Amino acid sequence: MLTLETLQAFIQAYAARLAELCTVLDDLDNRIGDGDHGTNMARGFRTAADRITGETFADLGALCQAVAMALLASVGGASGPLYATAFMRFAQSWKDCTNVDFGQVATGVANACEGLRARGKAEVGEKTLLDVWTPASEALAAQPDEYGMRAAVARATKAALASRDIPATKGRAAYLGERSVGTCDPGSISSAVFFEELADATV
Ligand code: ADP
Ligand code: MG
Ligand code: MG
Repeated sequence: MLTLETLQAFIQAYAARLAELCTVLDDLDNRIGDGDHGTNMARGFRTAADRITGETFADLGALCQAVAMALLASVGGASGPLYATAFMRFAQSWKDCTNVDFGQVATGVANACEGLRARGKAEVGEKTLLDVWTPASEALAAQPDEYGMRAAVARATKAALASRDIPATKGRAAYLGERSVGTCDPGSISSAVFFEELADATV
């Protein structure tokens, strides 16, 4: 189950993880992009965490909408609108709910994944964060409970590491084509951490 309290704690925890990983993610993006993925994500989720701290929200929908708006306002790169889309889909999925069970979390994640696909016009296998969100979403949909959530984390981590071995055909890294092979997709790594923290927050 996710509640207003645990969802807020999740945003705080993810913002803290991104601050720790900022340099690593920037370094990865430096090799196959423009070197700002860690900075973008850390700034975006810090802004979102600050925005929701000390504020009372009527439901999870309103909380997710506030996160989406904070991300849109503070991140210029591709990851800003993508994560804003994911949180807008969470907001629609969890409208009027003050808590959601594993089944509703699975539905929210599936809707967010669909939103990411539509927004980025990417398919699985193009070395983008969709390569992580898709298998994680499928694992959770197949088993919407705490074990399915752990399976989602395992599949997310595996996919993020496997992104190293494929050429990018979407996003900035696509300019490098085959030369992007050998470096993990930064957005896939930060997405795997997203699922780690989401799993820890969902009980
Ligand atoms: P930018 O590329 O604008 O500098 P970031 O560096 O913050 O933005 O984010 C880059 C990440 O965004 C990539 O590692 C990739 O996972 C993801 N990404 C980029 N383009 C797309 C897309 N079209 N669809 C899905 N994800 C994408
Ligand atoms: Mg970048
Ligand atoms: Mg950029």
